[in-house]
Amino acid sequence: MVASWLVEAAMAYNQTSMEKRDGYPAFVLLPVRHLETILSWAFESLPDEILIGFDPLQSMPIDNKIFDLCGGVDYRDDLFAGQAFVIGEPHLVNRGDSFSVHHVPEEWVDELFAADRGSRGARFTHWMHTHPNCVAIPSAADADAAQHTAGVDMILGIEFSPEGPLPWFEDAEGVRRPLNPEQRIEKKGWGSWRRQRRRPTLGRASTGHNIHGLELIAFHRTGVGVNVWLVDDDGQPFGLE
Ligand SMILES: [Zn+2]
Repeated sequence: MVASWLVEAAMAYNQTSMEKRDGYPAFVLLPVRHLETILSWAFESLPDEILIGFDPLQSMPIDNKIFDLCGGVDYRDDLFAGQAFVIGEPHLVNRGDSFSVHHVPEEWVDELFAADRGSRGARFTHWMHTHPNCVAIPSAADADAAQHTAGVDMILGIEFSPEGPLPWFEDAEGVRRPLNPEQRIEKKGWGSWRRQRRRPTLGRASTGHNIHGLELIAFHRTGVGVNVWLVDDDGQPFGLE
């Protein structure tokens, strides 16, 4: 059972995915159960970022009804590999800082991946990495790493406390996709003490950390954004009629 706060956040997130669907040429369906697994790995791995690999779930093709509801006006069906399937089980591949997380150690690569690969090993179709206490906006290193991706790259930004050595960082330009859009972050100029007092708690991590916010984006190696819908175990987006 996925925690109820995460299901509520997924419904709010999907609401935005609906409102913004015409701005994306394609979408992916990510089971929220996987997000919950990844969150627990992410907190257990702090202060590192983690890298997750996924393959398409071949047994769960996306049906036409979902394409009609979730695709935008400029939808195209040939953008990336695995586009016709729900995203499959997550695999924890690596941990490290914002640069090293993308570089899977050679001995791992030899053990886990086929010979033909990029810096992260080209075995998996889709990738996700975490940004602990940082917005989900790709860095230059992220954009470089994505050049080897056949599917999509996702970034999960996690705002939490206690913060550890790195307080929440949001001084980056780009499109933000919070899971709790009604609690939109205040603009720069507010005193940081004030944000501390005002920020809500979405849920609690397995490690006891308070989770104040989540952000999730997906993008194609060409730099174009890909819409994300959070789905149940049957591949149905939460909150979609
Ligand atoms: Zn990154």
